[in-house]
Amino acid sequence: MIRKILRILGIILLIIALLFIILAAVYFPTMKKLYFGNSVIHADSALTIYLGGGGNSVVFESDSAVLVIDTKFGKSAERLHRKVESLAGTKPVIVVNTHADLDHTGGNPLYRNAKIISGRVDENYWITANKGKAGMPSVWVTDTMNLRLGDETVMLISVGQAHTWCDIVAYFRNRDLLVTGDLVFNGVNTFFDERKGSNGWKSIEALKKLRVLPEVSTVVPGHGETGGGELITRMQTYLGDMALAAKHPEKVKEMKKKYRKLASMPGMSSPGIIIEYFKKHP
Ligand SMILES: [Zn+2]
Repeated sequence: MIRKILRILGIILLIIALLFIILAAVYFPTMKKLYFGNSVIHADSALTIYLGGGGNSVVFESDSAVLVIDTKFGKSAERLHRKVESLAGTKPVIVVNTHADLDHTGGNPLYRNAKIISGRVDENYWITANKGKAGMPSVWVTDTMNLRLGDETVMLISVGQAHTWCDIVAYFRNRDLLVTGDLVFNGVNTFFDERKGSNGWKSIEALKKLRVLPEVSTVVPGHGETGGGELITRMQTYLGDMALAAKHPEKVKEMKKKYRKLASMPGMSSPGIIIEYFKKHP
């Protein structure tokens, strides 16, 4: 009897271990790319895009200052910081955070003398989300703010609550380049957490608001590869589809199939999880 139970237990353990290996093999390459990988795009002589290693980052060099949008976390944050330091020399550094999530702000404390700008959130919320006060912004955007950097004007636009309690986007006017933070994910399922203020319906509204911008030729999403203006529309459709499936259960299968190629994080982000979110918030 005991032997039999032990044997069954052994088989169960083996199955769990196998499942774990399969899951790791399936999910790890995408996660590695998103959170640990780093690929660099030199968009032009002044603007560089650093994909992965946390949220995507943009570094812009003008004759008066160096602008860094999102500072990543861990080792990637350190690498990015070293690049910025050597680029800036004696020039001042301005840091912009699209939102308060640690994968976008983790490197902030490294930029000791920089002016740090983000969307207006409660300071206590920032401190909790960032596990401390180090690297907290000193300038909070409530509406819009223009940064004039050489011949470029970078417009910081607060869209209010969307992916978090307050998200801002950065629009490089002359380049028609938009840095969206986690309002837009490309090739990856989005991730909602109500404790950080994620709001599906307000995210859809925020994406609609971005349409007021003149023709956007390049979109740098919070995670995933860069693309054109279609990334915004695609994200809006994705969220709309999830809301639709939440309302019409017969559509769930169709939507899961439509978005099956998007990367997921087990238990954290998948079409199923976003559909559940909209079911809770019709
Ligand atoms: Zn993120």
